[in-house]
Amino acid sequence: MVEAVVGANWGDEGKGKITDMLAEKADIIVRFQGGANAGHTIVNNYGKFALHTLPSGVFYDHTTSIIGNGVALNVPVLFNEIKSIVDRGVPMPKILVSDRAQMVMSYHILFDQCEEERLAGKSFGSTKSGIAPFYSDKYAKIGFQVSELFDEELLKEKVVRICELKNVMLEHLYHKPAIKPEALLEELHSYKEMIAPYVCDVSSYLYEAIKEGKTVLLEGQLGSLKDPDHGIYPMVTSSSTLAAYGAIGAGIPPYEIKKIVTVSKAYSSAVGAGAFVSEIFGEKADELRKRGGDGGEFGATTGRPRRMGWFDCVASRYGCRIQGTTDVAFTVLDVLSYLKEIPVCIGYEIDGEVTTDFPTTAKLEKAKPVWKKLPGWNCDIRGIRKYEELPENCRKYVEFIEEQIGFPITMVSNGPGREDIIYR
Ligand code: GDP
Repeated sequence: MVEAVVGANWGDEGKGKITDMLAEKADIIVRFQGGANAGHTIVNNYGKFALHTLPSGVFYDHTTSIIGNGVALNVPVLFNEIKSIVDRGVPMPKILVSDRAQMVMSYHILFDQCEEERLAGKSFGSTKSGIAPFYSDKYAKIGFQVSELFDEELLKEKVVRICELKNVMLEHLYHKPAIKPEALLEELHSYKEMIAPYVCDVSSYLYEAIKEGKTVLLEGQLGSLKDPDHGIYPMVTSSSTLAAYGAIGAGIPPYEIKKIVTVSKAYSSAVGAGAFVSEIFGEKADELRKRGGDGGEFGATTGRPRRMGWFDCVASRYGCRIQGTTDVAFTVLDVLSYLKEIPVCIGYEIDGEVTTDFPTTAKLEKAKPVWKKLPGWNCDIRGIRKYEELPENCRKYVEFIEEQIGFPITMVSNGPGREDIIYR
């Protein structure tokens, strides 16, 4: 049985918490896309952690954590992350890395920084983790695959070829010092040393595991609206954020994905540039940011303040549909408890016409939110475990959103901890 945990929106929906929670009953957790550019924040009995590369199931001793072939693997980041959790008392997790995963090289990070500098005010708001240059190289067929680390002849020839290519841009476009083949080879050798014990033919491992009836969780990074095909292009990420891509990024048959848990937050937040129709500003935004998530809405990777907004029914309905949602996990509902009235965006006005369909980017840039105000519940809801025990207005809020998005909300999260969950 394979289940995917993915985001309906711009990321930071609380996928980490939901994955950590569902991992209790899972055997294997796989990261299938993205890299160390985004983070998941997890609160459990070992403390509070910000993970960037490790799957959110690493905190149990019964789980195997897998870095799938679809991931942009930053080897030193992975190793520092393993060390940082083990240093804090978490038992050494069982980790496997796909031999078909490709690696983020130091020049990818360099190119990411150079490009953001060059674009200056028009930048994408990249976290400068090298993700866009990495995926560009992967599809230009000049990336380094983990399996290649074990072929010294190939590496020696390839580092020369890559330096030739990269140095043209470094010299003429970015005016930076050239990279040397020897340094690149050394970098690859150090990665080989770190990664060798974990390398595995992941698709065949998963094939056997699925045959044996094991439960596999596919953990997505970011959300639907950051998907390069279906999101707010070009303000998107460089790998698909959709559950469907889980089949490719892990190497399993698509029909094995039986459950798609799409995580959606009770209000909106976004990092980076791009249209964000239900965005709010000023004091209202500051208040929500301060109260949001678990200790404020600030990026887990960069620490930068997230852009804030009210719940967007148009974007979330689309985000859930494009994921192929079977279940919605509705998170951080407790954060809204301070409000007497809660606005939600129920339509977009574009050129004088109201639509509830999520448009392509040029139209989206022109969209203005159509608001509906719902009554708040204005009392603490943390600690409640039964849906019927939630205040009436709180249930009405959940039910209104469920009707708007058109997919069943089967889980409501009312706190950052594993046990802060209400099943419906
Ligand atoms: P992810 O990238 O989707 O995993 O999301 P992040 O980890 O970036 O952001 C989610 C934040 O909200 C984290 O700080 C979580 O600890 C926190 N969180 C998740 N679910 C809840 C919830 O139901 N209530 C509250 N208050 N915080 C939550």
